[in-house]
Amino acid sequence: MEDWDLLIIGAGAAGLAAGIYGARSGLKTLILDERLAGGTTAEAPLVENYPGFPQIVGTELADKMTLHCRKTGAVIHDVESVVSMNLKDEKKTVKTTRAEYRASAIIIATGAHYNEIGVKGEKEFHGRGVSYCGVCDGPFFKGKRVLVVGGGNSACITTLYLAGIAGEVMVVHRRETFRAEDALVKDILSKGNVKALWNMEIQEIKGDKVVKSVVLTNIKTKETTEMPVEAVFVQIGESPNSVQVMEAGVEPEEGGCSIKIDIRQRTNIPGVFAAGDVTNHPVRQIGTAVGQGITAALEAYSYIRRPYYRR
Ligand SMILES: Cc1cc2nc3c(=O)[nH]c(=O)nc-3n(C[C@H](O)[C@H](O)[C@H](O)COP(=O)(O)OP(=O)(O)OC[C@H]3O[C@@H](n4cnc5c(N)ncnc54)[C@H](O)[C@@H]3O)c2cc1C
Repeated sequence: MEDWDLLIIGAGAAGLAAGIYGARSGLKTLILDERLAGGTTAEAPLVENYPGFPQIVGTELADKMTLHCRKTGAVIHDVESVVSMNLKDEKKTVKTTRAEYRASAIIIATGAHYNEIGVKGEKEFHGRGVSYCGVCDGPFFKGKRVLVVGGGNSACITTLYLAGIAGEVMVVHRRETFRAEDALVKDILSKGNVKALWNMEIQEIKGDKVVKSVVLTNIKTKETTEMPVEAVFVQIGESPNSVQVMEAGVEPEEGGCSIKIDIRQRTNIPGVFAAGDVTNHPVRQIGTAVGQGITAALEAYSYIRRPYYRR
């Protein structure tokens, strides 16, 4: 059994930021990731909204964060999956495919995955017109015709955001009404460049190097049409990577499966903190994940060392 002060699960933006602050605070810090360090940032084709980097390829930003974190003395174990964990005792234990670790505090930073529609062309054109993040990729489609898939709050918020950038925004929804808040729906329908396509289902995304069109089917009439578009924004929800920690007793937000946190990134279990996309924080961006990771690490430091100013 290896002993650490701080154990961080997930080496994405939140986990790496937490690692930098943990190690610089003098905590013996270990970060575990089941994949390569860098997280979802590495999946962003181009990042244009992270302060200090007007334009940077996602993999490059992820590599810089990982390198920075390692330089502070935090240890990162890539490709090491967590098998089980016991979070309730004073000392937390985590068993992985390679070893067993004991730590005084834990930060859960396992991120989330976007739900996919599962149609032909979706995977092929991911990053080449297919996007899961309007705020991230919308500005690449200034004045163009884009399509949003979904009918809930996130689809409507993305539609509103894109209406201010794109030339035309088509929203494909399987029902006859949106499932979003009334005010949001009114706002959308008042936009001259937004068109809702009710009772429609997307069948296929087509293109050559980039997205060129989509094939849509009307659920009621079964009629099929092909529509030229330059981007498809899939907005049918996200699923936090939280199953394992929920099984270990971490409390989810009401009616969901994101980790419920307070303003200091604390979960319901003393000594267990959470940061980034796995939490119920309303914004899911690299900058917010970094901010949450920093808070979590400094709070973990206070929890472990109990400095005089916090006693
Ligand atoms: C295509 C795309 C483009 C984007 N573009 C932008 C952009 O331009 N600007 C922006 O601000 N945001 C962008 N985002 C959003 C941004 O990437 C995320 O909000 C941010 O990276 C979340 O960071 P995180 O650390 O919370 O999670 P992640 O970066 O997802 O990191 C979580 C890590 O935890 C690991 N993990 C999961 N489960 C386990 C487990 N059981 N054991 C061990 N490790 C585990 C994962 O392998 C992963 O490395 C984009 C997202 C996508 C998908």
